[in-house]
Amino acid sequence: MMENEMKSCRNVNENPCNMCMPMGGIIALKGIAGSMVVLHGSQGCSTYMRRHIAEHFNEPVDVGSSSLNEKGTIYGGAKNLEQALDNVRRVYNPHVIGILTTCLAETIGEDVERFADEYKQKNGLQDFPLVTAPTPGYGQSHDEGYWFTAKRILVCLTETAPKHDRLNIVIPHISPADIREIKRILGLMNIEYTLFPDISDTLDRPHERPYTKMTSNGTALADIKTMSGAAATIQMGVTVEDSFSPGKYLKDTFGVPLYRVPLPIGMAGTDQFMETLQEITGQPMPASLAQERGRLLDGMIDSHKYNFQGRGMIFGEPELVYSITKTCLENGLHPVVAATGSRNARLGELLQPSIADGGEKIHILSETDFCHIKNYGEEAGANIAIGHSGGRYLEERAGIPLVRVGFPIHDRVGGQRLLSVGYTGTMLLLDRITNTLLENKHKSYRKKMFEQFYQAAN
Ligand code: SF4
Repeated sequence: MMENEMKSCRNVNENPCNMCMPMGGIIALKGIAGSMVVLHGSQGCSTYMRRHIAEHFNEPVDVGSSSLNEKGTIYGGAKNLEQALDNVRRVYNPHVIGILTTCLAETIGEDVERFADEYKQKNGLQDFPLVTAPTPGYGQSHDEGYWFTAKRILVCLTETAPKHDRLNIVIPHISPADIREIKRILGLMNIEYTLFPDISDTLDRPHERPYTKMTSNGTALADIKTMSGAAATIQMGVTVEDSFSPGKYLKDTFGVPLYRVPLPIGMAGTDQFMETLQEITGQPMPASLAQERGRLLDGMIDSHKYNFQGRGMIFGEPELVYSITKTCLENGLHPVVAATGSRNARLGELLQPSIADGGEKIHILSETDFCHIKNYGEEAGANIAIGHSGGRYLEERAGIPLVRVGFPIHDRVGGQRLLSVGYTGTMLLLDRITNTLLENKHKSYRKKMFEQFYQAAN
């Protein structure tokens, strides 16, 4: 059940909780080894997105643009796109190029799939991997842009392949540190896998000299081609619509069994991931991971007495919001608002049983903005916000402290190093939440006690 009406907010999006669709598409493409992206549209789109992504990851982020001007807008942008593709090939020599559209290109009805085919024919590049994805900025949010582009990458690049033992691990947009943690867990379990898309070493590269424009890191093209023959796909994406789901595409097209699990955040979320791995591979959980699980349980017991005082507003990309909301619930912190800027009906459906469990109401907001999040949260007595740095609005206007997690984080460094998945990552996330509650409590509890005492005495 989604509820977005709040009279005190204007009937426009005021401080949006999401970004536009091609932004997510760029991030998905940056997870492919040797890839380069061209945005078909005006130059400002690519400048804005490069800056937005670069500020979060503190990395140089190159994104080409077809630089549509007035002439291209009226007569069609094929020439601009052709020139952009020529330039990108000459300067970067990429192994894969992704072409994403923007508001302008979609509004004038550009057929990029046809352009891509004609470009390949004209330049003798029939086998060159070109991925096209229509991603109008006004279409959906960056989250749908990410999933849709990830699916388009598979549609354009995956081929029929012989069966093999590797697992496909399809992930939502999470931090490079989270991706490395998932890879560590898979390594401890001795599992062969293709993790897709993998930005852990493309958008969080070690410092190197000489600097190279392209990196060989990311999901290898050869592995993407053979994802069709995998033993199974584990898609960390329970909120993803079927039409955007890479795992569903592999299942429907190539018969790869699909296991949908939530992000492994929280005890139950991580257990579900581990149990799925054990079910598919028959491998037991290694002793070292069992110890990490035990430490998390111990930490949950330690911090429960503080967390039960928490009333949280959780916001951001739906998959992250779902997993963090469940983690809060299992630690006694009541989520009063679970919100996303995306148009996502599944988030509400999935969280509904948690509400029906007899607990206090959770306001579940979809396609929302920070005005609504703030007002619903204040009304419900929220005392902590958990999400990306757009939530500083809540700190500034309502004095509610923010635990930063997700994308984008622009007002702090280290967003790419925030670890929140697995038993160890959950413990770190929980500590960040608990310590924020404690810090805030100690700032004001004497004043509050005095006020309560004064009121009682009068
Ligand atoms: S909303 Fe549209 S015009 Fe604005 S940056 Fe995104 S794609 Fe470009």
